Amino acid sequence: MTVGRGPQGIALLGATGSIGETAQRVVARHRERFRFVAMTAHGNLAGLKTAAATWNPGFVGLVEPGAESLPAGWGRGADCLIEAARHPDASVVLNAVVGAAGLGATLAALGAGKRVALANKESLVVGGALVQRAAIAGGGEVIPVDSEHSALLQCLAGRVGRAGRDGAGLLPVAGVRRFIITASGGPFRTWDVERIRAARLADALNHPTWAMGKKITVDSASLANKALEVIEAHVLYGVPYERIEVVVHPQSIVHSMVEFEDGSILAQLGVPTMELPVLYALGYPDRVEDHGVPRFDPVAAAALTFEAVRHDAFPTLELGIAAGRRGGAAPAVFNAANEAAVSRFLGGTLSFAGIPAAIAASLERHGDLPGEDLPALLAADAAARTYVQEFR
Ligand code: NAD
Ligand code: MG
Repeated sequence: MTVGRGPQGIALLGATGSIGETAQRVVARHRERFRFVAMTAHGNLAGLKTAAATWNPGFVGLVEPGAESLPAGWGRGADCLIEAARHPDASVVLNAVVGAAGLGATLAALGAGKRVALANKESLVVGGALVQRAAIAGGGEVIPVDSEHSALLQCLAGRVGRAGRDGAGLLPVAGVRRFIITASGGPFRTWDVERIRAARLADALNHPTWAMGKKITVDSASLANKALEVIEAHVLYGVPYERIEVVVHPQSIVHSMVEFEDGSILAQLGVPTMELPVLYALGYPDRVEDHGVPRFDPVAAAALTFEAVRHDAFPTLELGIAAGRRGGAAPAVFNAANEAAVSRFLGGTLSFAGIPAAIAASLERHGDLPGEDLPALLAADAAARTYVQEFR
C-alpha cells in the first residue's frame, strides 16, 4: 500500500447515505489531508452525480442503476463495490453501505491491504471470522466508525494489537475487565410494553438524539442495533460476551466506557455527531485538528444519566446477543432476519412486535445452519430472509 505525498485517497462506499454525506462534510474541511478517489451508491443516481461532481473521483459506480443510463466511464452492478474497495489510489476504504451487502467489500479491501474505516457493522456480525482471516491474509486493518466502538478504541488508546489468531479480535486487547456500551434507549425508552408492540413507523423513525438512515433508526428503536454492536465489539476487540454490558444513557454524550483490570474506568464523551468518529477512523492513530463540531458544554448539559435496559420491552437485544454467543451462522441469521423484518416494517406489512417474533422464529429454524465459510453464511442469510419475507 502506497500513500505517497499529498492527500490520502479514500474510497467511499455508500456515498449518498447518512454516513456517506457525513464523510463528505468532514473531508470538505480537510482537503489538504484527504480526497475521495472512488465513490459508490446503491440506486441514488442524482445524489451520486452531485458527489462525483464535487469530488471528481477516479472511479464512480452505481450498484442498481435501473433503466437509467449512466455517465460515461461509470461502473454498475454489485461488482463496483469490489472495484472501489480495491482501488489502487485508495489507502482507506470507508464502508458506509447498510446491511450484509457490505461484507464482500470489507473482505476485498482487507485482502488488498487497505485500512477499512468501518461503519458497516453488519460486515462483522455476518462474517466476523472471515473478516479476521482476510485482515491477517491481506495485511489490512479495520478501524471502527460506529460511535461506541470508536469510543472504546479511544479509551483503549495505544493498547490494541493487530489481528492475529482466530477469535482473538481484529484489534485485540488485554487488561480489560469490562466494556460498558451505552445506548440512547431510542424513542420507546419510556413506553410501556404494549404500546411498544403496536408502535407505528413514524414513532420508530423519531429518534431522540441521532439523525441516521432508516434501517439503523428502526434498529435503534428495537435495540437490534445494540445487539449488532455487542457482537461488533466482541469481534473487534476479542473481549468475551460476559464482559460486555449495555447501559441506557439517554443523552448520548458518553459514547461508551472501558473498565480496566485495576477497576479504573475511562469514558469517551462528545456531542452526538458521527463527524468525530468518521474523522478519528480516517486519521487514526493521529487526532486531526478540527473545529467543525459544536463543543460540549458540561454545565449546559448539567446531567448525564444511566439506567438499566428493559429487556422485557426490547427482546431483540437478548435475541441478538444470544445469537452472537451461539456463533456459527447464528449471528448472520439474526442479522438477515432483522434486515428482512425491518424492510417489512418499513413497507407496512409487519408490526413492530413482529420484528423480534420473526427473528426468534428464524433463529429457531436456521440458527444451527453451517457457517464455516462465505457460501455457507450466504446460504444461511438467504434462508433467513426468505423465511422472514413469508413470516406471519
Ligand atoms: P443509509 O441508508 O443512510 O445509507 C446507506 C448507503 O449505502 C447509501 O449510500 C446507499 O446507496 C448504499 N447502499 C444501500 N444498500 C446497498 C447495497 N445493497 N449495495 C450497495 N450499496 C448500498 O445508511 P446509514 O445510516 O448511512 O448507515 C450506513 C452504515 O453505517 C450502516 O451499517 C449503519 O449501521 C452504520 N452506522 C450508521 C450510523 C449513522 O449515524 N447513520 C452510525 C453508526 C453506524
Ligand atoms: Mg453505534
